[in-house]
Amino acid sequence: MKMPWQSMLYGGDYNPEQWPREVWDEDMRLFDLAHINTATVGVFAWSRLQPAEDQWEFGWMDDLMSLLERRGKQVCLGTATAAVPPWMARQYPDVLRVDFEGRQRQFGMRHNFCPNSPSYRTFAPAIAGKLAQRYKDHPGLVLWHVSNEYGGECYCPRCAAAFRRWLQQRYGSLARLNEVWNTSFWSHVFYDWDEIVPPNMLSEHGNPHNPDQTAFQGLSLDYRRFMSDSLLECYKLERDVLKEHTPDIPVTTNFMEVYKPLDYFRWAPHLDIITWDSYPRAGTDPADTAFNHDLMRGLKDGQSFLLLEQTPSQTNWQAYNALKPPGGMILQSLQAVAHGSDAAMFFQLRRSQAGCEKFHGAVIDHVGHENTRVFAECQKLGQQLAGFGDALLGSELPAEAGVVFDWENWWALDYSSGPSNDIDYVTEVRRYHKGFYDHNIPVAVTSVDADWSQYKVLVAPLLYMVSAATAAKIRQFVADGGIFLTTYLGGVVDEHDRVTLKGYPGELRDVLGIWVEELNVLLPEDEVIFTVNNPSPALQGCHSGRIVYERVHSEGAEPVAAYNNGMFAGTPAVTRHAFGQGQAWYVATSVQPAFVNQWVRDAAATAGVEALGPKQPGVECTLRRSDKGAFLFVLNHNEFPVRVALDSGWSQDLVSGKTVEAEGFTLQARQAAVFSHR
Ligand SMILES: [Zn+2]
Repeated sequence: MKMPWQSMLYGGDYNPEQWPREVWDEDMRLFDLAHINTATVGVFAWSRLQPAEDQWEFGWMDDLMSLLERRGKQVCLGTATAAVPPWMARQYPDVLRVDFEGRQRQFGMRHNFCPNSPSYRTFAPAIAGKLAQRYKDHPGLVLWHVSNEYGGECYCPRCAAAFRRWLQQRYGSLARLNEVWNTSFWSHVFYDWDEIVPPNMLSEHGNPHNPDQTAFQGLSLDYRRFMSDSLLECYKLERDVLKEHTPDIPVTTNFMEVYKPLDYFRWAPHLDIITWDSYPRAGTDPADTAFNHDLMRGLKDGQSFLLLEQTPSQTNWQAYNALKPPGGMILQSLQAVAHGSDAAMFFQLRRSQAGCEKFHGAVIDHVGHENTRVFAECQKLGQQLAGFGDALLGSELPAEAGVVFDWENWWALDYSSGPSNDIDYVTEVRRYHKGFYDHNIPVAVTSVDADWSQYKVLVAPLLYMVSAATAAKIRQFVADGGIFLTTYLGGVVDEHDRVTLKGYPGELRDVLGIWVEELNVLLPEDEVIFTVNNPSPALQGCHSGRIVYERVHSEGAEPVAAYNNGMFAGTPAVTRHAFGQGQAWYVATSVQPAFVNQWVRDAAATAGVEALGPKQPGVECTLRRSDKGAFLFVLNHNEFPVRVALDSGWSQDLVSGKTVEAEGFTLQARQAAVFSHR
């Protein structure tokens, strides 16, 4: 849908209900100073808007909305449903969750509602409807913000009943359910739906040191799917009500990077635009933040997104809440824009006086005036974003390389007992993504269900769970000329976490041209060494693998590297299989970044995928393109200046407003430039 804004969104969460009325006018003055054009309001205001079941207090919100209107500010309006009010918990205890340990929660915290509570599912859409009815004609309303950072789980009797209904819908019969869960194992055959209980610490999970450990992967996996769907249902109930009143206002809810409990790919089609909250820790590799942005952009197949929250200075909830260094916040904001964001928004605009977020940074600090370093930086960013005008809005980042990320695969891997606790899906995916990032090769993050036709190179690390449909897609991708790579444990199970029999890697055996006979586990201090014995211009030398390594037999694939040591010395560690017009690679251990980097360079050269700029440590390049033009972002993440040389033709830095020849220019420490084409 068409987004109703004409420039980059700049502002953030604003909670004036925590402040006396006279402070609001001062806030408006400071917003103007900082070039803030958008305020997110009402996100945690349920108890102020609805003090009792039959009592509504919209006066203060009316006042706030007209104040924002008079000052020409856009509004991202929260539906206030992320934290239930105390009266609701007391009168309607079904809104309260039962936790993983089986304890009935009392009122407190936020995200404190049971997603299958009939009361919550009545009250939440009701307040969303009231807000929509009241503010539907407000000229500044540009975005609906449903709830906030949905998450968590519930194990109450209502969720148990809903889970049984969800299972009946999915499997149709107990016979089918018993088959896919393999319930003959440990005497689990179910003869009545009511015998099925949610998997938590009182049932299938019991190890306090490893809560993921479950006796029944199929059951636990389905509960995760069900819980993600249950929270999505809550979102959709509110979304539907909002759409009745304001069909042209986009609706969203804010995501949290690789947040494990929710399958964001399943959520994305129900959001008009993806929005998310970025809180990198001090010392986070900028490549990891880039991955998060690429994932968010990938959720809706490349559509631009909004950075809805970040801190201007520091968080309060991490172990070490270091300040962002001078220039760091602007650089991180422009990195979001470089990866497809049409916004740079903060949590929050004025720092809370009390509550657990009083040490969370804000644009306006406790001192209350504009004479702070952080405010000055916010002002500078506001000016820069305003300078972009509408040039970047909705523009895309073309990519011919893709990295597959799959939530269900992640859940299944972590639920599996063995082979090693060190197996980490997200780390493995990030490592391959970083291979492209380090070379400044544009890369997208994609799902197993997405259209892959734009990609020439596709990497699916640790793709342990492979359905017949996914295998068919991979086969087709390679047959059509694509270069595909997967790794150890690839293709081992189907979508129910049942091993695909007759040899690993199951459904991928033919396309990869291999049989994996066995897998050995390395202790944390051990590694396996392998040597590339079939070098190409980019791929050569000795490398190491960790965590696990497998014994691979070629069934048509060409061995590219062989182990030097370990039980499988002399057998292939890396294989390449010519299949149709393309090639399918298998990497049988958890390889270190040096090999990934070589492989990416080799694959890109073979496929004719080009980099945007030279590979230079700490220097990141991306390209956004639309009918308004092409824009090359160059970001220096280093603590020192760098000299960058780019192709001629790029000039006019949008950030500084100056004409700069990109052929040879200097970027200061933590500085970014955005070039347009001459
Ligand atoms: Zn529940």
